[in-house]
Amino acid sequence: MSESIKQLSKLPVRYCFVMNPYPGFRYSSCPYCQHKTGQRKIPLLIHVEPLHLVALNYTCRYCQTCDLLIANKHEIESYLAGMFIEAIPEIVGNKYLVVGTVEKTAWRKGMHQSMLVGEMLPYASYFKETYRELRAQRPGWYKVGQEPPILEPPLPKDWIKGNSSSSSRLKPR
Ligand SMILES: [Zn+2]
Repeated sequence: MSESIKQLSKLPVRYCFVMNPYPGFRYSSCPYCQHKTGQRKIPLLIHVEPLHLVALNYTCRYCQTCDLLIANKHEIESYLAGMFIEAIPEIVGNKYLVVGTVEKTAWRKGMHQSMLVGEMLPYASYFKETYRELRAQRPGWYKVGQEPPILEPPLPKDWIKGNSSSSSRLKPR
């Protein structure tokens, strides 16, 4: 276990988190409680193997009832690819994990003073809980009692080994 990850485990906890693997699908209602979701723009703390921590300011769907942030996997991966493809292309496609959030004020200060992400850790929170990636059922007409099959999410597009195309990547804002 790396030092940065050991430090992470001591952080206070805030928010539950789940990844949505369906591009273009917005979860305007919560997949767990069905309440309407809102938006919350918050810097997400992401650990990329082997040893990289990044903070990405990202607009999540947010369910107040469940205290749940929902992030779109393809967007996150597109931003990550944009961050790393020139500086450290060999880690693009590595395993990564969204581990928590960073206080906005600390994140903003970090942007201006090029603070290392490690220095933001005192202002970071670990997620209370991370749920398994969402799965939706395939839409269509089904007979009574017939269980709709699971809709397989598309494969990663930007966060893959050996990807050097820059056409569709998102730029962090
Ligand atoms: Zn909910």
